[in-house]
Amino acid sequence: MCYESISFKPEWWDECEKVARRRSGCHIGMGKGKEFKDGRLSSYESHLVGVIAEAAVCIYCGQELNREILPGGDGHRPDLVMGDLAIEVKASQYTPPYLRIDAQAEEFQSDIAMLVFVSIQKRETEFWGWISREEFIEKSSLTDLGHGERLVMKPPFRDPALLHTISSPPKAPCYACRREDWWLSWEGGWTCRVCHPPVEGVEWLGMARHGSSP
Ligand SMILES: [Zn+2]
Repeated sequence: MCYESISFKPEWWDECEKVARRRSGCHIGMGKGKEFKDGRLSSYESHLVGVIAEAAVCIYCGQELNREILPGGDGHRPDLVMGDLAIEVKASQYTPPYLRIDAQAEEFQSDIAMLVFVSIQKRETEFWGWISREEFIEKSSLTDLGHGERLVMKPPFRDPALLHTISSPPKAPCYACRREDWWLSWEGGWTCRVCHPPVEGVEWLGMARHGSSP
């Protein structure tokens, strides 16, 4: 299921084309309305699809769109950071999109991956949701869809609206024990580690998120 779609304004699209050109080292613009040949994306075209997806998440997270805010991840950096949360943005040109991760290339280093369908023709993106690294590892399976074995997971994914809730822990201490040591439960959101410690395998995000004050 697609949670939300964004239609790109012309100025957003132009900005993305500039970034894609720079990333691909290609300085020749692509004519508007040109169709991609299936499965044979040029370097510029595949960069553009990735940039559009990153830009869509930026817009969704309420960030201004400009070239400085589209840093782009290489293999070991997250594409975007929101609050304390490192986000890997995965673009797809198929619906329903599958989340495909090359396990050997260690593509999934961020806390979560966000799956975005990109329509170049319509200049639209659709959010298909996100998944934490831990949950993806548990629910994905090794599948060969034609480009070698990948870890693959099909929808549904988690609702993007939850991102605003999970991107940072509560700013106040636990009302019961007055400590600030939160963990994120798959079902129940931010939970006090002292009062309700997690059992193995129920943490959404593997790392501890401590409150800001001592
Ligand atoms: Zn507590």
